[in-house]
Amino acid sequence: MERPLAPILPGGTLGILGGGQLGAMFAMAARRMGYRVEAISDVADCPAAIHCDRLHVGPYTDTALLARVAAECDVITFEFENIPAEAGRALAAAVPVRPSPDVLFTTQDRAREKTFLTQHGFACAAYCIVASLDELRRAVADLGLPGVLKTAAFGYDGKGQMKLLAPPDIDAAWATLGVGPDGPRQLVLEGFIDFDCEISVVAARGTDGVVAVFPPSRNAHANHILDVSSVPAGLADSIIDEAVATTGRILEALGVIGVACVEFFVTKDGRVLVNEIAPRTHNSGHLTIEACETSQFEQQVRAVCGLPLGSTRLRSPAAMANLLGDCWPPAADGSRRDPDWAAALEVPGVWLHLYGKREARSGRKMGHLTALADTVEEAVEKVTIARRRACRG
Ligand code: AMP
Repeated sequence: MERPLAPILPGGTLGILGGGQLGAMFAMAARRMGYRVEAISDVADCPAAIHCDRLHVGPYTDTALLARVAAECDVITFEFENIPAEAGRALAAAVPVRPSPDVLFTTQDRAREKTFLTQHGFACAAYCIVASLDELRRAVADLGLPGVLKTAAFGYDGKGQMKLLAPPDIDAAWATLGVGPDGPRQLVLEGFIDFDCEISVVAARGTDGVVAVFPPSRNAHANHILDVSSVPAGLADSIIDEAVATTGRILEALGVIGVACVEFFVTKDGRVLVNEIAPRTHNSGHLTIEACETSQFEQQVRAVCGLPLGSTRLRSPAAMANLLGDCWPPAADGSRRDPDWAAALEVPGVWLHLYGKREARSGRKMGHLTALADTVEEAVEKVTIARRRACRG
């Protein structure tokens, strides 16, 4: 465990690697608490740009840029994991990086992440790591079909993965995923899990090793992209307790200081299997902004600054629905019209979050809606109605 150090207090400068919506919401929480925020992004026109005190634009491999940011910040965290671990290591030589670059290194690659999970006895889908068509054929013979083939690195929202249903799919899947611009890629073949539902658990671990876990959320996906998250997840206490305990143990085993999210499959026979770990705040945790005593973003600030963690108590059942670019109806000239926000906000107990992305593209996360209600079923209904009204569909 990192030795507890003096906390970084308001007035200090927090750095964030990445300028997307998670970085923007982190910056809003941090600035509300009196911190300065500097973000590094490889694009200037990013959601965090207007929310931070300074945006450094450049590639994450620019060592001079990293050194400049390290010199200005008291601590650095990140908002997405597709950042070269060497960038994290270069920064960590000069300033605390939380979670550490080692956590980033393990979790940004599915093969390393799966190896970590099995070495520590955390249950996950049966898998094989493969790096050639022959190895893939042998893995299919071992695990059977159906299976899910995933690239080890740089996958998200279902990108870089294919379902294998029958033997003829093997060659096609290898041709699509197995060979990248630099030659054969490492892939992970997983046995297909016929799950009852998917849940995720956002948690934080402070510099003193204290862990605070948010209530697990139930996640529904559409086209591999998170669609609706809801809390409470409506599962047996034994399942919730296991997911919460496993998440805490994963953060401890990884030595996370900061926030991380663990995604799980809950099988029809009640097993709780780890799907993947994100060493950062998570889309499924956005509803904590309105629904919990502390949001996941304030918790990230507290954890990386070495402050006491906030209460994760759920104040109200809640549901969050993502707003993808598809919600912006295309006009005849190829541009897109704005959704009907007024109609959505007529639904009582609904909050709108837009990330300031200028171009609405299909599948792009543009914002989200959150609803609070007396029951989770009502919250899901409200947020779905609000989104339908906004998207006129
Ligand atoms: P991932 O990028 O690994 O989170 O996968 C995206 C989505 O694909 C998951 O949320 C699941 O809905 C589905 N999926 C991934 N792996 C499996 C699996 N082994 N069995 C069944 N469904 C899966």
